[in-house]
Amino acid sequence: MSAERKIAVVGGGITGLTAAYHLKNAGATVRLFEASDRVGGAVQSVREGAWLIEAGPNSLQENSADLTRLIKELGLDPARATALPAAKNRYILKNGNPVAAPASPPALLTSPLFSLGAKLRVFRELWQRPRQRAADVSLADFVGSHFGDELVEYGLNPFVSGVYAGDPHHLSARHSFPSLWQIERETGSIIRGQIKAAKAKRAAGAPSGPPPILSFDEGLGRLPQALAERIGPADIELNTRVTGLIPGEHWGVTWTRQGQPQVGEFDRVVLALPAGPLAQLTVGSLGERPLAELANIIYPPVVSLFLGYRRDQVAHPLDGFGVLMPQAEHRQVLGVLFSSSLFAGRAPADHVALTVMMGGVRREDLGQADEATLLGIAQGELEAILGVKGEPVFHRLHRWPRAIPQYNLGYGQFLRAIEAGEQQHPGLLVGGHVRDGISLTHCIAAGKKLAERALG
Ligand SMILES: Cc1cc2nc3c(=O)[nH]c(=O)nc-3n(C[C@H](O)[C@H](O)[C@H](O)COP(=O)(O)OP(=O)(O)OC[C@H]3O[C@@H](n4cnc5c(N)ncnc54)[C@H](O)[C@@H]3O)c2cc1C
Repeated sequence: MSAERKIAVVGGGITGLTAAYHLKNAGATVRLFEASDRVGGAVQSVREGAWLIEAGPNSLQENSADLTRLIKELGLDPARATALPAAKNRYILKNGNPVAAPASPPALLTSPLFSLGAKLRVFRELWQRPRQRAADVSLADFVGSHFGDELVEYGLNPFVSGVYAGDPHHLSARHSFPSLWQIERETGSIIRGQIKAAKAKRAAGAPSGPPPILSFDEGLGRLPQALAERIGPADIELNTRVTGLIPGEHWGVTWTRQGQPQVGEFDRVVLALPAGPLAQLTVGSLGERPLAELANIIYPPVVSLFLGYRRDQVAHPLDGFGVLMPQAEHRQVLGVLFSSSLFAGRAPADHVALTVMMGGVRREDLGQADEATLLGIAQGELEAILGVKGEPVFHRLHRWPRAIPQYNLGYGQFLRAIEAGEQQHPGLLVGGHVRDGISLTHCIAAGKKLAERALG
């Protein structure tokens, strides 16, 4: 269809930028609206001297050929930063000590993290038959029914806290990990299903092993920056908040810049926004808000505290990606990333960088805590867990008051509201972390899909 379409993309996070990039490549006329003064949304890398701080996401999983192609097209191959070898170790706290997490089912056999009973339970999972559940269940119940409670407490719980800052007892199995839900339906055993999927990927020519963990020389921020350069500054409106849409053969889009309302006409409108702004958006001349229900999606706060220390202040070898805290350990922080062990060039010589994540659904109260309180908590926990002594030589705090949407039980109702909104208003397209998965990789795929749909 017509590449000359005029398309409004609302939201300059990674989803909107990817959508606008593909639309422009296809020859469409694009205008991207971003409410803040910079593109990237949650992706924000800050360089301060020899310190490189990731305010939001810290790494990207390169798990699709589309993503590899995008990085190449953007000319970012020379800027690639792949995770350092040590980063393959991941620690989980057990009885107050960081214990290496098993990286594969065979490694589980020797892991001190789980009891013999729990290990036998994991291997029994291989015999599970395909199952069609009548209704969605919590992720904890789902994983528990395959691997038992110990794996939920010391495997799933910290993992989910690291990804969603969420609670597996509330997250929906079907919506938060749809690939596992599908494996259960088709193969039964999650382990067998994953082995099968890995074999199929290899047969299709994909590299074997887990997907590379990626960033760029100057951090993940390089990606939105490169996308914005390709889209071109003339087609990106910063400090511009879209407030309403008027459907019709052509869409009327209303936005405000410096308090001034303005209107433009477009053939299609792509919304790549978080749930709050989607819920607020009026669609129609009577101020209807078809996505109002999305205001009920739970978005806990996350606080990311970047701390720099001299190497000799830290007893732990920091030979890993980081350490995650199972809820059962009753710690005050969600996890600690060993930022300078994950990627090179994050700290000055003879120094290390750690990023402490706090808040989430476990400790929503910390979203409001002042900087001194958060620093005090982080220092106390780092001393207890990693043997960190003394004051940090550098620190930066970033707050995400509404960080990550929780794909909790009942999330289907929000997805249905989005579908209904699109059906009611042809030409309106919605995607991004509210609908398509929360990881950067999901959002990048969502941006491409939005562009294809807008041109279709
Ligand atoms: C602290 C944190 C750590 C994370 N860690 C990781 C990680 O390590 N790896 C990973 O893969 N993922 C991670 N994620 C998740 C991932 O970063 C996000 O899901 C993803 O960046 C969301 O992209 P998006 O474009 O869909 O939305 P956003 O990044 O939220 O972008 C939406 C944009 O829309 C703009 N906007 C809002 N309202 C309007 C309006 N009315 N008009 C115009 N513009 C508007 C906003 O200003 C924003 O720029 C993390 C997220 C957070 C918060």
